[in-house]
This record gives sequence, structure tokens and C-alpha cells, in this order.
Amino acid sequence: MNVKTTRAAALDRLAQFLPAAGRRYAETRNADDGPAPAGRANVSELSPWLHAGVLTERDVLEAVLGQHSPRAAEKFIAEVFWRIYFKGYLEQRPAVWDDYKAGRDDALAALERNAGLQKAYAEATEGRTGIEAFDVWARELQDTGYLHNHARMWFASIWIFTLKLDWRLGADFFLRHLMDGDAASNTLSWRWVAGLHTKGKSYLARADNIARYTAGRPEGALAARGLAEDAEPLSEAKEYGRQKLDLPGAVLAKDLAEPFALLLHDEAAHHVPLALPASPALVIGAARPAARSPGMVGALADDFAKGAVANGMADAAAAFGCPAREWRDGEPLAPLLADAGVTRIAVPYLPTGWTRDGLWPDLAELAAQGRVVTILPELERATWPLAKAGFFGVAKAIDDVLAQCAITGLK
Ligand SMILES: Cc1cc2nc3c(=O)[nH]c(=O)nc-3n(C[C@H](O)[C@H](O)[C@H](O)COP(=O)(O)OP(=O)(O)OC[C@H]3O[C@@H](n4cnc5c(N)ncnc54)[C@H](O)[C@@H]3O)c2cc1C
Repeated sequence: MNVKTTRAAALDRLAQFLPAAGRRYAETRNADDGPAPAGRANVSELSPWLHAGVLTERDVLEAVLGQHSPRAAEKFIAEVFWRIYFKGYLEQRPAVWDDYKAGRDDALAALERNAGLQKAYAEATEGRTGIEAFDVWARELQDTGYLHNHARMWFASIWIFTLKLDWRLGADFFLRHLMDGDAASNTLSWRWVAGLHTKGKSYLARADNIARYTAGRPEGALAARGLAEDAEPLSEAKEYGRQKLDLPGAVLAKDLAEPFALLLHDEAAHHVPLALPASPALVIGAARPAARSPGMVGALADDFAKGAVANGMADAAAAFGCPAREWRDGEPLAPLLADAGVTRIAVPYLPTGWTRDGLWPDLAELAAQGRVVTILPELERATWPLAKAGFFGVAKAIDDVLAQCAITGLK
């Protein structure tokens, strides 16, 4: 897998994958053929750049629709909308994220107290359970910073229903090692496998299914003996009510009339997708991958987040002819702005998750003073309000959303 963090590298991979994004993707995407040095042939592996905002959903959808009919690319387009859906859903239920963190911390504390649990957790995360497929994926995740979607589903299912480990420890393990580790897609996908997202509907990993869809791996089909035979959905007492969205409108040149700083962060590391209507006087980079977890964040995930922001800062400084400055964790932000003689800061939307947890405490004060201009792309503004409950609400509106956002280029 290509782990270069630049936008140029992301666009190269997009161009390389594009011919496969139509019917071929629909027919072959479920196969986990293993990591490939030149990139997997059947899935895009674009997720790390999408997560870091180096490439946006809009970039990807426009490129795909430039080469395939909407019908041929239907499946791929739907998957891209799953990402937007999960973000919109979590934005309307931030308590799901807060409760995940509280549950994760309780589960981590329980590990400390219970030697048996600790042993089972170590065997799972070190790939020593004896379930071949699971052990291969545990190591692959840490060695490559990526897992195929089907492998993530099987892995999460085995973690929860066969190994009987707390789902929040598994979600934390993923977040610490996935380069694309995303608060919304990760938390909600683990909840989906567990039967908490779609209440009562869990996902059972089966050995025959794993063998079938891993047959194309260089080492041959992966064995998975001794898996649980059923997946009794987990349950929870709490009902997560929906909170009203309060989304910012489009940013206009008049909003950025005074000299301002542009903030680049873990989920918006490049300026091009932001399409700023004015040039910043300063670029500020703030990568906070350590905020993903109280545990150690894997080197690949850490490097990707920091590299994406560092490259984004360099590109923006060159494009706007202005200085770029790192905002270090724990450093106060206001003096940094004052030094550069700017009062306002343009902040790409901080979605619910660790990026917001890490940065908002400092920004809140500036926001209260009216000094923060929030940027949210039109695609998210159009889609998030539809992410009220299940994915269906988004799926049925995809054509309308694409038209509304003028994402065409259809053949
Ligand atoms: C337990 C579990 C945990 C997951 N954790 C994450 C995570 O932390 N971050 C993350 O980005 N995705 C996560 N996913 C979703 C999905 O597995 C990845 O987005 C996908 O595998 C990324 O690989 P790709 O870019 O090759 O995908 P492709 O198949 O090429 O899809 C293109 C893009 O569509 C989006 N996408 C595809 N499938 C999904 C999906 N099921 N849900 C949401 N978006 C999707 C991604 O942005 C992806 O880059 C998780 C899924 C599961 C089951």
C-alpha cells in the first residue's frame, strides 16, 4: 500500500484505481486478497487520505463519475456515502462517542485488574489466538496500518462473539493502528457488528465465508477454526436521542476579509479541498494522533497523521506565499495568532471525535469571541441532515445530493 501522505500521492492512487471503480468494484470488492506492494486491485485503499482530508469525497465522486456511469459506479458511490453517513450520524449523537470513550476506559481498567482478561487481550492483539485468519489480520493491521473492509468485519465479529472481548477494546485497537482510523466509521462499524447500531442485527463471521473471500491471498485461503456459531446481539439500556444539527453555511470572501490564519488538522490536512475564497496570512498545523486513545498509537497511524499535516502546511504556505507554523499540543493558541498579527482563524469543521476533543478546548474561547470561521463542505452540509437513523435515508437521496452539489461529469 502507498503510504505517502501528499495530495499528489492520493491523486495518483485515485487515478490508478479509477478504471476498477465501476462494475469490477461491485463484483470483486468483497475479496481480501492481502496487501499488495502496488496497491490492492479490487478496492481503492483511499481511506487514509479521505480520513485526513488530503482528498475529499467530492474529489473521489467527481473522478469516478467522470469515468463511469452512475449505474456502473453505484456500489462504489454508495460506499463513499457510508463514510459521510457515519459522520453525519455521530454528529447527531455525540453521546455515542462519549460513552464509547467512557466504556473503553472502564474496559482498559478492567484489564489491569484481571490477569485472565489481560492474557486474552494480549493474545488477540499480538495475533496469538490460534485462529489463523484472526492472527494474520491482527499482525497485518499493525504492519500495514490498513485492513480490508471484510477483514474488519470478520475480525470485529470474532473479537466480540468468539473471543468474548469488550468491543470497545477492539475499536480502540483499530483506532490506534488504522491510518484511516475514524471516530465515526470505526465506532459505528464496531457497534454495527455487535448489533448495537442496527438494534438486534449483529454480524457473524463464518469460516466458509472467510475461506471463500480470502482464496486470492498469496498464502492461500485463511483458516478460521473454532468460531462462535451464533452472534447474540449485544444490548444496552441507553437510547441515543438525536441532537439537532447546527451546521455552518458556506464561507464567503466577506467572512475572511480581515487577515486570518488557516488551521490544518488530522481530518482536514490540505487546503485545496477547502476552496478558500481568500488567502490566509498564516497556516497553522495541528496534528493530534495521540488523542485517538490513552494507549500507544501505532507508528504508521501516527506518521500518516503528522505527515499529512506537515505536507499540507508546506503546500499551503507555498500556494498562499505565507508562513506556516506548527501549533504544538499544550501550547496556547491565542499568542500564536497575536504574533502573526491575525485575529481570526478559519477552522475546517471539527467532527465529533478525538480531533475535536483535542483542539476544541483552545478554540472554544476564540469562537465565543467570534474569531472562528468554520468551513464545512457542501456535500457534508447536504448529506448529514439525512443521516438521522439507518443508511437508507441517505442511500435513497444520493442522486439528489449529487445533483444539488453539482457533482456530475456523467457519461
Ligand atoms: C469494524 C470496522 C471498523 C472500521 N473502521 C474504519 C475507520 O476507522 N475508518 C474508515 O475510514 N473506515 C472504517 N471502516 C469502514 C471500511 O472498512 C473502510 O472505510 C474501508 O475498508 C477502507 O478501504 P478502502 O479505501 O480500500 O475502501 P473502498 O472499498 O475502496 O471504498 C472507498 C471509500 O469509501 C468509504 N467506505 C468504504 N466502505 C465503507 C464502510 N463500510 N463504512 C464507511 N466508509 C466506507 C471509505 O472512505 C473508502 O476509502 C470500518 C469498517 C469496519 C467493519
